[in-house]
Amino acid sequence: MENWDRIREKLQILADAAKYDVSCSSSGSKRANTEKGLGNTTGMGICHSYTEDGRCVSLLKILLTNYCIYDCAYCVSRKSNDIKRAGFTVEEVVALTINFYRRNYIEGLFLSSGIFKNADYTMERLVRVAKKLRTEHRFNGYIHLKTIPGASDELMNEAALYADRLSVNIELPTETSLKQLAPEKNYHDIMKPMAYLQQGITARVEEKQGVYKAPAFAPAGQSTQIVIGATPETDQHIMTLADTLYKNFKLKRVYYSGYVPITSSDHRLPVIGTPVPQIRENRLYQADWLTRFYSFSVEELVDQHHPQLDLDIDPKLSWALRNPHCFPIDINKADYHLILRIPGIGVGSALKIREARKFRKLSWEHLKKIGVAFNRAKYFITCDSATHFHRDMNPDALRHQLLAQSKYAKGLSSQMSLFQ
Ligand code: SF4
Repeated sequence: MENWDRIREKLQILADAAKYDVSCSSSGSKRANTEKGLGNTTGMGICHSYTEDGRCVSLLKILLTNYCIYDCAYCVSRKSNDIKRAGFTVEEVVALTINFYRRNYIEGLFLSSGIFKNADYTMERLVRVAKKLRTEHRFNGYIHLKTIPGASDELMNEAALYADRLSVNIELPTETSLKQLAPEKNYHDIMKPMAYLQQGITARVEEKQGVYKAPAFAPAGQSTQIVIGATPETDQHIMTLADTLYKNFKLKRVYYSGYVPITSSDHRLPVIGTPVPQIRENRLYQADWLTRFYSFSVEELVDQHHPQLDLDIDPKLSWALRNPHCFPIDINKADYHLILRIPGIGVGSALKIREARKFRKLSWEHLKKIGVAFNRAKYFITCDSATHFHRDMNPDALRHQLLAQSKYAKGLSSQMSLFQ
């Protein structure tokens, strides 16, 4: 291995370049070490991700290289961008992973890469890292590999044998936008590996039911990332695409990455002075959650009359205010799936309500104890005590009132923090 100073420099460059891939979320923390302190979180590429069973794991998140033959306008590593370049060897990434793992810094690896020479040449190296870790070092930690569009089925197959999760980034919401901002890429090269993985994962699940020890095949599934705000597609467009990907390719997660304006501007990109507001990403994640776990359809949350998610209020509240005829919902009688639609009631509270009402009629007091966000939910429900719901309730007035309440609560909490 080259000397440590050079490795350290490469690590800084390649960890920094990897932070734009949100398909495993970075801590983004910048706490430096103090004279007598232990460790720091500065620029060394350690991020946190969640495993299938909800465990939070620390990952070494790096690129194999930020050299790239492609010129995707939104990407800091694009070939026309004048930045410092670096590349690890396969052996260096393996050694770093093992080293960090032994020191207890990380529990796994997230490895992505710019494309050098061609898709297969790059993918073969990514696979070699995972293979070496698994077979030569018997590494059992988590491995997430980003796949390279256009890589062969054979390499995808090998990647799935050694990695826990694979991601195939779709990047932009339409083929037209892809052509405009990432001219060397096309949807076919992106969808093909996604379909290949989906078939392989499904086949392996079926095999495992019959054969006791069928080898693993991307056991943590596949994910993708969509860049938002670099092109004009609406939230309706983005959510419809995400829904199709979940249904057709059985993705575990779609990640939404707000476009970050990069230093040297590219004429293909919109002139955006500030990054896409974080709240737009948050609203997309909330809406994504509602479609996957709360039985909402995309059309209920966004449609041609409301193509953008409301940035001021969450998507469930927004839907409730647009559909006052669905309320009030009787907490003691309504079907579980209807209870899930009440603003202020999450899956945990809905399950508790379903259990508790088997034994007694529930009142406001019971709901508060269960953990319902009462200040919000009370306008949409009836239960075994007084009602706060008024049939002639004006949705605009209620929206105004709830917004004022939440601003007041935020103001209070920031005042409190001044005294902590
Ligand atoms: S192929 Fe990947 S690394 Fe290369 S410019 Fe495009 S997004 Fe960036």
